[in-house]
Amino acid sequence: MTTPSAPVSAVPPEGASAWVTIDLDAISDNVRELGRRAPGAEVMAVVKADAYGHGLAHSARAAVAGGATWLAAAQLTEALQLRAAGVTTPALTWLYPPGADFGAAIDADLDLSVAAPWAVEAIAAAARERGRTARIHLKVDTGLARNGALGQGWTDLIAAVGPLQAEGAVEVIGVWSHFALADAPQHPTVLAQRERFVEAAAELERAGIHPQIRHLANSAATLTNPDAHFDVVRPGLAVYGLSPVPDLGAPEDFGLREAMRVTARLALVKAAPAGQGVSYGHTYTTTQDTIVGLVPLGYADGIPRHAGSLGPVQVGGQRLTVAGRVCMDQFVLDLGPTYAGGAGDEVVILGRGADGEPTAQDWASAIDTINYEIVTRISGRLPRVLVGGGD
Ligand SMILES: *Cc1c(COP(=O)(O)O)cnc(C)c1O
Repeated sequence: MTTPSAPVSAVPPEGASAWVTIDLDAISDNVRELGRRAPGAEVMAVVKADAYGHGLAHSARAAVAGGATWLAAAQLTEALQLRAAGVTTPALTWLYPPGADFGAAIDADLDLSVAAPWAVEAIAAAARERGRTARIHLKVDTGLARNGALGQGWTDLIAAVGPLQAEGAVEVIGVWSHFALADAPQHPTVLAQRERFVEAAAELERAGIHPQIRHLANSAATLTNPDAHFDVVRPGLAVYGLSPVPDLGAPEDFGLREAMRVTARLALVKAAPAGQGVSYGHTYTTTQDTIVGLVPLGYADGIPRHAGSLGPVQVGGQRLTVAGRVCMDQFVLDLGPTYAGGAGDEVVILGRGADGEPTAQDWASAIDTINYEIVTRISGRLPRVLVGGGD
């Protein structure tokens, strides 16, 4: 999990072992492209988890520059950070426990999602105290069985909200839900969830509650399921130029480009004999007299330990695989017997597939996970270098 604490600069810090470059223009262009693919809908850019590891405030601003009229962050605390950074775009947040600081959220003009009567009652109480109206989005569970009001719970939630809206303590701005299998657009649950969503929104209308917006589509549904676009689409991953449906297409197939590049500098390059076991456990052994290079990144930086002898990197245009175990702060590459470079050479860990670089998706495929997990784990201890965003 990244933290927003990493230093941010326009060029790699001098002497840095490794850094994360964030292309702000890519984020803006991706949002613009998502807007084109959802004509008639606004874009709510999801910036949770420190903008999927890309950095909260600058990513949010880049998304807004690309036309996002809404932002979204899962944790209430993340949404408050957005406001503390001076970002004033309408923003939705949906994850909080009882006792969360709803007053601070109202003071910060955040929209709060509601999935249970206790939540709307606590939010209304905080609004009353301030003589304000809290902006809320009612979340219906249409079949994910995660957040949202399910079944009779939806009817009960509407009953709880009605009097609070009549009183002026809350105003229902939106009704929303989330898919379980958005990456399989033909799956029967996708159709069923959409139907349930329409029905739930109609039940709300019948109760005299008329939200301004309905929103259902994450990245996968934004790209593959126009029937799910409604008034606002709510993509996260695609904003950062990654494909939510790698089996259906790479980023460039959807007009997107990766915004994150992770680069390291070799900290040591040296000769190693044939038959040399490499790194903890000697799970890799050199097959010839060779040259090995030390990459100063490890699992503490978000390089998955499972990527030992699997993770792809690029050195001077050459594609290589991690040699042996990934350690806490470092891993090793077998650069081959003819390697002509030396310490300080750049290693691309992940970047843009269309440019021939290894990608977050390549890492995900190598260790049987998803690209989301690769980028969100890139550690806050790596400095962020911002390029583009020249507005
Ligand atoms: C994370 C999240 C999104 C964005 O999902 P992507 O697959 O990254 O586009 C949208 N809505 C909710 C409720 C989420 O949790």
